[in-house]
Amino acid sequence: MTIKTRFAPSPTGYLHVGGARTALFSWLYAKKHQGKFVLRIEDTDLERSTQASVDAILEGMQWLGLEHDEGPFYQTQRFDRYKTIIQQLLDQGHAYYCRCTKERLDEMRDTQKQQKQKPRYDGRCRHGISDENVETVIRFKNPESGEVVIHDVVKGKITLQNKELDDLIIARSDGSPTYNLTVVVDDMDMKISHVIRGDDHLNNTARQINILNALESDLPQYAHLPMILGDDGARLSKRHGAVSVMQYRDDGFLPEALLNYLVRLGWSHGDQEVFSMEEMINLFDLKDVNVAASAFNSEKLLWLNHQYIMNSAPEMVAKHLVWHLEQQNIDPKNGADLVLMVQAQRERCKTLVEMAKASRYFYSDFEQYDPKAAKKNFKAATEMVLQSLLDQFSAIDIWDGDALHQIVLKTAETMELKLGKVAQPLRVAVCGGSVSPSIDITLSLLGREKVLTRIQTAINYIKNLDNE
Ligand code: GLU
Repeated sequence: MTIKTRFAPSPTGYLHVGGARTALFSWLYAKKHQGKFVLRIEDTDLERSTQASVDAILEGMQWLGLEHDEGPFYQTQRFDRYKTIIQQLLDQGHAYYCRCTKERLDEMRDTQKQQKQKPRYDGRCRHGISDENVETVIRFKNPESGEVVIHDVVKGKITLQNKELDDLIIARSDGSPTYNLTVVVDDMDMKISHVIRGDDHLNNTARQINILNALESDLPQYAHLPMILGDDGARLSKRHGAVSVMQYRDDGFLPEALLNYLVRLGWSHGDQEVFSMEEMINLFDLKDVNVAASAFNSEKLLWLNHQYIMNSAPEMVAKHLVWHLEQQNIDPKNGADLVLMVQAQRERCKTLVEMAKASRYFYSDFEQYDPKAAKKNFKAATEMVLQSLLDQFSAIDIWDGDALHQIVLKTAETMELKLGKVAQPLRVAVCGGSVSPSIDITLSLLGREKVLTRIQTAINYIKNLDNE
């Protein structure tokens, strides 16, 4: 059997972490089995679907690197096919027109609620009774007795009684098909082998199985994923902070780190936390997905992001960092080699936003010194130290970290100063603040021109201090 999974978002908002986790599990399962992963945009709800959401979902999937093998298919382009199937269901006696008025349905629902019954359509039009001159919908004739058994790969066997399910609407009065119908037709036509989705769809699954049976179609395997909770135990939502995938990009996360975090939300392999993409594909299995809900933990995601920043190929980190530098109006072409810079900064930066911020001085001149650092390190006597460094730096032939380091050491020795009294003023002079990678790396990354100019600027600044 060819394994085929799908991700089928409704474009009514951005791609959120719950959706991304569903997409990831589906993608991994297909990859693991050399199968296919389908992207399907479920845009039949014309009032709530927007092009902006479609674009946001595609952008999110692309950023995560969850490439689809087929699609994206748009349900709005398949209306003819749904009409044909609805007609087939009508012709074969599996569906019927319903002319019940809204008032009647409302009244019925109210009575059922009062009598503490589950609101459900009473099947009046199933038996040919109808009111005149009202809009017409089409309902599926759900079996009235018996049960539906879902053999869920994650949750095990789930049995629902047909008498609990009513005759659901499959076409609205304007003829447009509804969610449960379109999903069934698409999963059938697209030969989806595994339907992997959130467990909020469990009730729909029973209905969908009944429709598939009426169409005499094979059933896919179902795998319903447990909910994701916020740290307060409630279902993860906007109020827990960032839930949009692209917000994580904006906040400086690497897509690989987010994927690694998401794979552990509801799935585990021993107590391993960090997985390469290859390991995820090889080790992932639906059978190991937890039944219980899992909680989103922002601290852990941040920790993982730092692991990825520190341990990934610096070229890869640099590629993503460029975007953040540009966001902060820093021109990455105007200074230190990006890959070397990443290597120098990655221990201290947990996000790419932090790294871009902490690296500004490598690419553009700063307008002022960090006041505290300047006050502490720029004293009248510092001028001599900086002047000596400037003279020696100007004289060296090859701008090399080791040679520069030797000069700093020698200067401290000659002037009988602690190393910090030389290196720290130098650091503030060339970086604007007191935090940077080791002084030799900082100097070599900055390059001769920036270092010499900035030392001279600092000397002038100190001179002016004297005058005040
Ligand atoms: N379009 C549905 C949603 O976004 C998902 C449908 C499905 O996976 O079957 O919730």
